[in-house]
Amino acid sequence: MRLSKLKLSGFKSFVDPTTVHFPSELTGVVGPNGCGKSNVIDAVRWVMGESSAKHLRGDSMADVIFNGSTARKPVAQASVELVFDNADGALGGQYANYNEISLRRQVTRDGQSAYFLNGTRCRRRDITDIFLGTGLGPRSYSIIEQGTISRLIEAKPEDLRNFLEEAAGISKYKERRRETENR
Ligand code: ATP
Ligand code: MG
Repeated sequence: MRLSKLKLSGFKSFVDPTTVHFPSELTGVVGPNGCGKSNVIDAVRWVMGESSAKHLRGDSMADVIFNGSTARKPVAQASVELVFDNADGALGGQYANYNEISLRRQVTRDGQSAYFLNGTRCRRRDITDIFLGTGLGPRSYSIIEQGTISRLIEAKPEDLRNFLEEAAGISKYKERRRETENR
């Protein structure tokens, strides 16, 4: 399974509908300061369910919506779609038969988010569930940002344990147990 494309519209600096293709297993995003490289990564984390505006370098969730420039008016909503190629069936279970898996999230200025899985409205949980135990997800170790390595080195034992549990694929079962206990 791998990322095949990312479609952005009204998200941060990507006001016009933009599709980013990831044609191979290694893609470099280059460009001058402020051109939107980090916004691309923010979009990937946002669509997978990131719920903290601070982690997206903003103050509120509406900050991900294009807020205007000298030449353009602000827009009313942001949308990001992330498409995975699942031809190898790596994402098993109920998704095994899907060659492509599309996640989409949109948000309006009142801060209301809606999530879609292969075009059908779903809950945030349905999205986060897919990634539990895969190492991917809004806060996962597969996204290594500036400072991530030193945070890991300095992490409290509890946080370090969470990383290791996610890598070992057991976080998914712990989450299920937590849910059952809370019922
Ligand atoms: P660097 O090389 O310095 O890390 P970068 O390519 O990662 O730069 P980003 O941080 O992705 O750049 O993009 C910053 C740009 O995005 C700024 O010009 C900022 O004004 C713009 N931006 C961020 N949020 C919004 C928004 N809601 N509406 C419009 N523009 C935005
Ligand atoms: Mg950057």
